[in-house]
Amino acid sequence: MTDAAALPGQPRGAVVSGPATERAVNVLAPNPSVMTLDGTNTWILSEPDSPLAVVVDPGPLDEAHLRHVVDTAESLGKRVALTLLTHGHPDHAEGAGRFAELTGTAVRALDPALRLGDEGLSAGRAIEVGGLELRVVPTPGHTADSLSFHLPADRAVLTGDTVLGRGTTMVAHPDGRLGDYLDSLRRLRSLTVDDGVRTVLPGHGPVLEDAQGAVEYYLAHRATRLAQVETAVENGHRTAAEVVAHVYADVDRSLWPAAELSVRAQLEYLSEHGLI
Ligand SMILES: [Zn+2]
Repeated sequence: MTDAAALPGQPRGAVVSGPATERAVNVLAPNPSVMTLDGTNTWILSEPDSPLAVVVDPGPLDEAHLRHVVDTAESLGKRVALTLLTHGHPDHAEGAGRFAELTGTAVRALDPALRLGDEGLSAGRAIEVGGLELRVVPTPGHTADSLSFHLPADRAVLTGDTVLGRGTTMVAHPDGRLGDYLDSLRRLRSLTVDDGVRTVLPGHGPVLEDAQGAVEYYLAHRATRLAQVETAVENGHRTAAEVVAHVYADVDRSLWPAAELSVRAQLEYLSEHGLI
């Protein structure tokens, strides 16, 4: 979900399909909405001189989009050799089975139910395809199965829905947990501080060229919202719906159902920490 207008490092203009870094090309899926911003970003990753590519998040089950991803890879002189998922939400993963059919690839994800083939993904593990190296970074919180992929050669990280290119994301309670999410943001911050990551390639919205600024903004935003929720409870707003109406009054009402899930995650966090 989105409840802020701008992020550090955000470029002007709309999201478009095309190259984002030396090794990453975006194919924008035609599924825009209040929850998916401009649509899902399907990422094609490859070493410049390699004939093999990795696709992250094929996106919704939309035959034209899935074929467009294959065609885009082919037009770059690449064959898709592996499919990865950042998490299981349908706007990222629903088309994975059909995409695997079209490309003859395995699908690797944290959740075994989403995999096709024998191999999963685990924390800290490196994936190598045609000389391209990706490192698996566990970033639970938006969902329990959320992963990010560190692309060291481009000083970039693919964040799925953990960090978006515009606004902020939701913690999808009860699967998503706020404590996990804050830990994940700190893990991403350490990638920017200790590993030189500069660019966020998000699951929705534009590429962010100030990765550290974006993560710091997310951490600050979460702290602000948490304090607002705590105050709302202290002032007698008891149910999640009451807290949303009070704290998210500045946010478009179409986003309130998503906000309510985030508020439930925040109430759980506050109560687990003895704060309410
Ligand atoms: Zn999601």
